[in-house]
Amino acid sequence: MNTILQAVAFAADKHRNQRRKDAEASPYINHPITLANVLANEGNVADEAVLVAALLHDTIEDTQTTREELASRFGETVARIVTEVTDDKALPKAERKRLQVAHAAQISDQAKLVKLADKISNLRDIAARPPADWSAGRQREYFDWAHAVVAGLRGVHPALEAVFDAAYAAKPAA
Ligand code: NDP
Ligand code: ZN
Repeated sequence: MNTILQAVAFAADKHRNQRRKDAEASPYINHPITLANVLANEGNVADEAVLVAALLHDTIEDTQTTREELASRFGETVARIVTEVTDDKALPKAERKRLQVAHAAQISDQAKLVKLADKISNLRDIAARPPADWSAGRQREYFDWAHAVVAGLRGVHPALEAVFDAAYAAKPAA
């Protein structure tokens, strides 16, 4: 059983009708695959539960997937990590953004790695392929919010934190 490929296939199916927000509407699955690739090949992360959780990280938040479904297919550890990086969609957007900053330091080290890779991926995407309707000011606002979230994640993986800092250096000019 290759659990990594099982997670790729599961996430590809769950996100099959979704697209990212860039002008070309890239396939959604590119993003979770990027997280796992950043962790494994830029961060040398070998913890399989972290890599599998990275591949599944947006399934509960953005598809019909439940925590129980992840637990039965991928185990309790993976289900717990994904749950830790899942926003409560019942809350207003601004509150969700505030809570990500407030909670970052309290989540597990495994969840911190997934969240760090998520912010690296999103900053790189905004720098290379921003959502079509985002002004430079809104892009800059996202960079600053991501920076505030990552402040709470630091201390677990300094090399990946440096990768984040390099991505942050591409913050669009005002
Ligand atoms: P976000 O601002 O949170 O949208 C960004 C999210 O979309 C990312 O975190 C990422 O989430 C996902 N995403 C998909 N495609 C891309 C891509 N190509 N590049 C980067 N991220 C991508 O949510 P909303 O669009 O709902 O905006 C709501 C918030 O934006 C409000 O709280 C408000 O503060 C702010 N806002 C600012 C405005 C401004 O002009 N300054 C105007 C309007 C709103 P994931 O990793 O989960 O997929
Ligand atoms: Zn994501």
